[in-house]
Amino acid sequence: MRDLQTPENLGQVLDAIPLALVTIDRNGAIRAFGKRAEDMFGYRAEEVIGCNVSLLTAPHIAAEHDHYLAEYARTGVRHVIGATRIEMAQHKSGHQFPVELRVSEIRLDGEVAYQGFLRPINGDELQRGEAKAMLADLAQASRVSAMGALATAIAHELNQPLTNIANYTQGLSNLVSQQDEFAGREEVMRVLETCSDQAVRAGQLLHRLRDFVRGGQPQTGPNAVAGLVRDATALALINGYKRTIHVTYDLPVDLPTVEVDHLQGQQVLFNLVRNALEAIDAEHGGHHELVIAARQVNDFIELSVEDDGPGIAPAIADSLFESFVTTKGGGMGVGLAICKQIVEAYGGSIHAGKSARLGGAAFRFTLPISSESETAGG
Ligand code: ADP
Repeated sequence: MRDLQTPENLGQVLDAIPLALVTIDRNGAIRAFGKRAEDMFGYRAEEVIGCNVSLLTAPHIAAEHDHYLAEYARTGVRHVIGATRIEMAQHKSGHQFPVELRVSEIRLDGEVAYQGFLRPINGDELQRGEAKAMLADLAQASRVSAMGALATAIAHELNQPLTNIANYTQGLSNLVSQQDEFAGREEVMRVLETCSDQAVRAGQLLHRLRDFVRGGQPQTGPNAVAGLVRDATALALINGYKRTIHVTYDLPVDLPTVEVDHLQGQQVLFNLVRNALEAIDAEHGGHHELVIAARQVNDFIELSVEDDGPGIAPAIADSLFESFVTTKGGGMGVGLAICKQIVEAYGGSIHAGKSARLGGAAFRFTLPISSESETAGG
């Protein structure tokens, strides 16, 4: 830990560094705000000094910050400090943009303070750093899930004809076995038995394939809803943030944690947000709205992603969550099937409909509340 003297001196240091620097005290109040931070956020330093840092973050993250600071002060356990992460920052105009953030602990006037180094990131930078690693994890998980969805779909489709083959051959062998006079009986019986064995074997192989793909054991545990939303939307929006899309987060501060594998939870949200952005993108021009909300419904948290795009095409509305259903030229049509598979594996459900507030599509899914639920966290 270094000892820096006054916020004024600090300002000069900040301006010399090619990153936006924001220093906050232990309560989250902004103590120093560099020139580059002014450019990045559209505020002048004197407007924000003394204000809570939540001013600079997407609203759903703001509540988390206070929680982090309080928890860190209480437990000394580091969630954010020392690590580089992707966050959604908020410009004075309300526009949100992804940034790479690194926080370090310093001493300011003899007190603990935190210094955040921020760098805006854009689509080109997906090839580098933390965003690349996060996207690679997600892509890998998506590939595994796509294989799973594929295996499940194939197993489902082939199971019936295989069962039929096994039944028909069994029926035939019964018929043949009753024909005493039939010269080639032994030979035909042998062939039919082989047919039947092969059909059963093919069925077993399919089941094994499905179990194998499912086998990549997820790490289920309590996850903060805000954290899942933060990670997934930041990644999904990196490619789309240049368009005028205003994202509203409606996430109550005291939501209990959900029981899910972090990557899988992120994957469901990522797919839904990406689909919403793609639907919006297909509509030309204009200003667009996205609402991501969460609320408690009995023992579950219901998360929703709503957009003001064209809504779900009526032709596919009934088969939306089945594999290989798509209206996109290059689409695979497994995204929503994967979402359904993940959500249902945790005992939740997923539905699509029309967004009452935005007019486009609304997707809602539930995840169970963790039994040893804390509110917020990592
Ligand atoms: P893909 O994105 O590869 O088509 P998905 O399973 O993710 O596969 O989506 C299936 C289809 O559902 C899409 O092709 C699209 O027609 C429809 N869809 C999904 N999300 C939305 C949305 N937010 N608005 C309108 N249609 C959507």
